Amino acid sequence: MALAAKPYSLSVSSKPNNSADFFLRVQSPPNSVSLRYSFASPGSIELNSSRGGNLVLSASRGVRSGRIRASSAQVMDQSVAKTDSRAPTVVEVDLGNRSYPIYIGSGLLDQPHLLQRHVHGKRVLVVTNNTVAPLYLDKVVEALTQGNPNVSVESVILPDGEKYKQMDTLMKIFDKAIESRLDRRCTFVALGGGVIGDMCGFAAAAFLRGVNFIQIPTTVMAQVDSSVGGKTGINHRLGKNLIGAFYQPQCVLVDTDTLNTLPDRELASGLAEVIKYGLIRDAEFFEWQENNMQALMARDPSALAYAIRRSCENKAEVVSLDEKESGLRATLNLGHTFGHAIETGFGYGQWLHGEAVAAGMVMAVDMSYRLGWIDDSIVKRVDNILQRAKLPTTPPNTMTVEMFKSVMAVDKKVADGLLRLILLKGPLGNCVFTGDYDRKTLDETLHAFCKS
Ligand code: NAD
Repeated sequence: MALAAKPYSLSVSSKPNNSADFFLRVQSPPNSVSLRYSFASPGSIELNSSRGGNLVLSASRGVRSGRIRASSAQVMDQSVAKTDSRAPTVVEVDLGNRSYPIYIGSGLLDQPHLLQRHVHGKRVLVVTNNTVAPLYLDKVVEALTQGNPNVSVESVILPDGEKYKQMDTLMKIFDKAIESRLDRRCTFVALGGGVIGDMCGFAAAAFLRGVNFIQIPTTVMAQVDSSVGGKTGINHRLGKNLIGAFYQPQCVLVDTDTLNTLPDRELASGLAEVIKYGLIRDAEFFEWQENNMQALMARDPSALAYAIRRSCENKAEVVSLDEKESGLRATLNLGHTFGHAIETGFGYGQWLHGEAVAAGMVMAVDMSYRLGWIDDSIVKRVDNILQRAKLPTTPPNTMTVEMFKSVMAVDKKVADGLLRLILLKGPLGNCVFTGDYDRKTLDETLHAFCKS
């Protein structure tokens, strides 16, 4: 049920099949109130409180009928409504008392209240890199401190690149935090792409056993995927993202204007993950992409905003249903097992993450077809849309079958020695996460894409 009468709206949600919790969320800048009632344990009501501010209640709308765990709504803050017409779209990641909003829109870094309401304590550490800092660090510091003189902001500027997503660089964040005598009430802010978001999130999870953090993603990849869902971590020389933690942010702020400075190749890399959502669970979205790829590549603001929102809704829903990846969430890794092998085998940073995922998706689709699980029209559509997004559809020609096999053997999806893969099965928009496939077919796919 949802009541909406702008600028106030109220959301009441429940899970299907009567099994569920009753969930009410009320947003009231600078804080929010959420109330959860569990039908499974009657009499138990969970209330997370807030302090003053103008009352804003957020509306919930299920992404798909029958599931109401991730919700999106326009939120209008009364205190700014008079001066700022650019209210963000809000997608809610519903994780009980760890729920958080994803704000999406243009000019959000010029709306300081959006960030400030999620800052805990008076000390903030912004983690960024030497490419993003000259572009957006001042703006973020301004957004954190405007009208808020009690907050002091430190920053740490890391070297840029996937090859720096490792332990030595992570230590630089801890060095800065400890030298600055930050305490448990501080907030870490990740400003940058997925590399910064993953490292800052992991640092926040580990520093003093956990401090608050906020994600400000500035690449398509980070805005549609890596900043949402709480997967944080670093690479090991033997494998991607092997060291990390699940750790959720307080909020994700997606200012779509930051994409104006993003290089074309990075934009395309992010679109690989957008295409992934369509393939694994949202055929309608895939069709929309087929019709709008040109607009996305030309950075049409409304096309990009729609793709980001729809991707976040898909990701938020999956994360809400399976936060720690016991099954469903693994499907978000379509093409990633092959892709991680390319990133690790070819050398971190040689190919962008999305490029490796794109080639990996083609390999997963090829294998699905060889298994007889999909028809060849899907194979052609995947190839076609990736080419239109200027993404690779084959791995680098130096990759060998052995390189794939040795990296895939240490993939996080190996369980009891069995490599489980995400493969498409059935009509477009359906996939499985399974170890139940013919090993020979995996070999055939690897041999089809590698010279030796
Ligand atoms: P990235 O963080 O390396 O950013 C790409 C490049 O763009 C960098 O050079 C960066 O400095 C630059 N950049 C960032 N924002 C910019 C801007 N607005 N203008 C100009 N330049 C800008 O790469 P990415 O593609 O954002 O993220 C890839 C990483 O994300 C990988 O390490 C991958 O493993 C990780 N990832 C994590 C998850 C997750 O769930 N945690 C999901 C997907 C990907």
